Amino acid sequence: MNYEHSIYVRQVGLKTLDFYHGKLDGLNGPKTRAAYAASAKSLRQSTAPTSATPRTFSKSVAPPTPGNRSRVFGPAGVKGGNTPAMAYFKPPYPMQFTWGGAVARIGCHRLIAAPLKAALSDLASFGPAWLRMHGLHLYAGCYNPRKSRGGSGMSDHAYAAAIDLNPAENGNHSLWPGAAKMPAKVVHVFRKHGFQVGFNKGAKRRDMMHVAYVERD
Ligand SMILES: [Zn+2]
Repeated sequence: MNYEHSIYVRQVGLKTLDFYHGKLDGLNGPKTRAAYAASAKSLRQSTAPTSATPRTFSKSVAPPTPGNRSRVFGPAGVKGGNTPAMAYFKPPYPMQFTWGGAVARIGCHRLIAAPLKAALSDLASFGPAWLRMHGLHLYAGCYNPRKSRGGSGMSDHAYAAAIDLNPAENGNHSLWPGAAKMPAKVVHVFRKHGFQVGFNKGAKRRDMMHVAYVERD
């Protein structure tokens, strides 16, 4: 088995999404293959249309605080159990999954679909070349029924209330401003539509891949 860069990139994405806990060695071993299969299955579930899919997005709500998420979004999704009330839309600019393949539709909680689509439409005006240069076409998913990394509570992803963008360059531990590459004007656009980008931990922000319809600051 030889190192393959595409496998390395896949491992980074899978690790970010909490499917993979092995080495980032670029080798397509059994752990990597199993993690990829699990994420693909989860992805099919989160993008599959259901008869309950609303035709129109709900009217807007203010982003809740972490403690109010279930009151606004309903209960967090659980593996093999209930899922949040989802809505689906075509990305306003070309996006691809970090693990490969074009993003045909973004599925998210129906309460955040309108502001998310509006924010991404604003980003589209920066042009595809600029978006690619900053890795903003690299989509790492929305709904994922899991706990927050390093915390005991549920992740915003379990409510389908957050997306991740360009995880390889906006890693969980990368500081911003600094190592994380998320452009300031993108943060500004998301904030304008009610989204929080990253978590404020101390003087600098981290986890800048994480774009959540949750008010934390
Ligand atoms: Zn996230």
